Amino acid sequence: MLSNTVLEGRSLLKNLKCPQCGAEYDAPVPNTFCKNTACASTLFAQYDLSRPLDIAILKGRPASMWRYRELLPIVNAENIVTMGEGFTPILPIENLKQFTGGINVFWKNEAGNPTGSFKARGIGMAVSKAKELGIKAIATPTAGNAGGALAAYAARAGIRAIVYMPKLTPQVFKDECRLYGADLIEIDGNIADCGKLVTDGAAEHGWFQISTLKEPYRLEGKKTMGFEIAEQFNWQLPDVVLYPTGGGTGLIGIWKAFDELEQLGWIGSKRPRMVAVQSESCGGIVSAFNDGQTSAQFVDGGFTIANGLRVPKSFADKIILKVLRDSKGTALTVSDAEMHAGIKEIARNEGMLIAPEGAALWQAFKKLKTTGWIQPGEVVVLVNTGSGYKYLENISV
Ligand SMILES: *Cc1c(COP(=O)(O)O)cnc(C)c1O
Ligand SMILES: [Zn+2]
Repeated sequence: MLSNTVLEGRSLLKNLKCPQCGAEYDAPVPNTFCKNTACASTLFAQYDLSRPLDIAILKGRPASMWRYRELLPIVNAENIVTMGEGFTPILPIENLKQFTGGINVFWKNEAGNPTGSFKARGIGMAVSKAKELGIKAIATPTAGNAGGALAAYAARAGIRAIVYMPKLTPQVFKDECRLYGADLIEIDGNIADCGKLVTDGAAEHGWFQISTLKEPYRLEGKKTMGFEIAEQFNWQLPDVVLYPTGGGTGLIGIWKAFDELEQLGWIGSKRPRMVAVQSESCGGIVSAFNDGQTSAQFVDGGFTIANGLRVPKSFADKIILKVLRDSKGTALTVSDAEMHAGIKEIARNEGMLIAPEGAALWQAFKKLKTTGWIQPGEVVVLVNTGSGYKYLENISV
């Protein structure tokens, strides 16, 4: 049950806007991405933040992402489909502190979300909004976690889920989809291949697609990580945020959240330096960042244990690169062997069995400490996006 304080809150959603050409779209109908083919950009939900909103509204609200009710897009609270996603803990590095060189390192640990990853935030929001808009069937391509989350939230909402997943994904991701009653289609190929087939299927059968950043509300779910980071650090943002970047939804969402909080006057203008961490086999954003490009190339070097990072080309590559540059951030890759070693180091020293995507951040952090890019005394947040338990098939113990 959602508490009364949240049910009384009212969404300040106004409309949707293309960050590239500025075109605006009405919110009460289903939307995808900007229809202007010159940008074909992700749309950003806009809120009426012109009137003051007292920070005290958060008092007594539930420890879930829904505590930010006013800044979320669901108009009628009855449409909220929730299993307690969000408000995940901030955990300091404990026994490895001696190796952080005087840098204050914290995990934002997303492993405890429903279905074991932060996809619960984005998908929980998208499914709630789909319910509000009367949508009956939702399809998505997935590298694993998004499919499981869609299957679960759709089951709870009474909506049909259709999931396209690469055959090489570990079995647990397939089994959970089937257990939650989704239609699962296994594809000989990567997530981009799945994406094309979803688009074809959607055109043929009238399914609503929620491919990463081609649908506006998954971003609104993932932005709640930004609200939480701000609130959990007492409205003083950290110096650096490391983020395992596949489609980049969370990276863009966290940045959007900070903008909204500043408009409300809940935080000042200080921003963390945002760091995109990718797999060595799929580092399109990292290459584009290093080469000074404003968009990324299609890069797929094949299998990685971090299936969430096997995204050959993000639909929102331009926005990701802009966030990295605006924040004075950076981008770097990590190999599968390094992720493997990171999982073990964190498990035996910190008592956390984290996803390979999260382990990549720990290794990237050590590189940035060694080069001096992160300095002693700085506050660093590593977003562990998922539970390691779903990846054990590919982890040697
Ligand atoms: C999907 C996923 C990612 C990548 O998320 P984006 O926000 O789309 O970049 C990272 N880690 C895990 C565990 C994932 O499931
Ligand atoms: Zn546009």
